[in-house]
Amino acid sequence: SKDSGGNQYQYYNPSMNKRNTELLHLETNLYQAIRESQLCLYYQPQININTGKVTGMEALIRWQHPDLGMVSPDQFIPIAEETGFINSIGEWVLFTACEQNKKWQQSGLTPLKIAVNLSPRQCQPNLVTSLKQILKETKLEPEYLELEITETSIIVHPELTQEILEELTEIGISITMDDFGSGYSSVGYLKKFPFQKIKIDQSFVRDLKNEPSDLAIISAVITLGKGFNLQVVAEGVESQEQAYLLKNLQCDTMQGYFFSYPLPVDEATKFIQSVANEGIF
Ligand code: C2E
Ligand code: CA
Ligand code: CA
Ligand code: CA
Repeated sequence: SKDSGGNQYQYYNPSMNKRNTELLHLETNLYQAIRESQLCLYYQPQININTGKVTGMEALIRWQHPDLGMVSPDQFIPIAEETGFINSIGEWVLFTACEQNKKWQQSGLTPLKIAVNLSPRQCQPNLVTSLKQILKETKLEPEYLELEITETSIIVHPELTQEILEELTEIGISITMDDFGSGYSSVGYLKKFPFQKIKIDQSFVRDLKNEPSDLAIISAVITLGKGFNLQVVAEGVESQEQAYLLKNLQCDTMQGYFFSYPLPVDEATKFIQSVANEGIF
């Protein structure tokens, strides 16, 4: 399933005027996208490197645009954030991801965590209410939901965000710091905020080779995370060598094209089933 290519976007030559014009109108189109269900979730497995088993799935949003093909979240999430659409999109993502995870459980698979990305604008008090409602409606137990936030969420309103994250933690939802190491002040936040996990930023993993300086950085990040009693996830793992190096550095959870691209729901289900007994290796 590594070659199923679920993550391939259609890239266009930037000089193609039609696409540029259309992109300018993404904002208007986004409204339609929500109304006409052009959004969907792909799921990327997170693997325990020691057992080879899937411990979680990250939900990643996709926009299947009728004219533009697949639009990457990096292109439309920022627009959704500026225009406020992110609140309805975010709620749809949370509901759909929780519902899907419950379906996997009900089909008899070993329960796993669903990880959902949260935009800074979603970190508001009403998030707690809305998440309680979603968990109730989907009947998903909170320990199977994980929220990934970046430090941008924290920087804007640190006190408020801390309060919200603590409430979510009390409910039983776990919080991951995404893109760890990419920002400026993440280390201080580890002490103050209720994280269970850090995700090492892809930039450190992407260039990882068997060279002392690369290894020193990753090793320091892993040691730091473990020092705070956090689980450490490496994402963007693209090669066997990287997986091997990370394993030697005691990183036990990994995610990346080497294991699987983000997959549409049916393929994601097959992937989970296929490694359920023996693991991926
Ligand atoms: P992210 O949360 O850091 O997600 C990881 C990105 O890396 C994903 O891109 C994923 O497809 C990609 N990736 C996974 N494995 C590999 C690998 O081995 N190599 C490389 N080069 N890339 C890999 P994607 O799906 O395009 O998402 C981009 C960003 O969009 C995400 O970054 C996240 O910040 C945002 N995003 C995606 N879905 C949502 C969502 O539902 N809500 C919000 N607020 N943001 C989302
Ligand atoms: Ca993420
Ligand atoms: Ca990330
Ligand atoms: Ca990112």
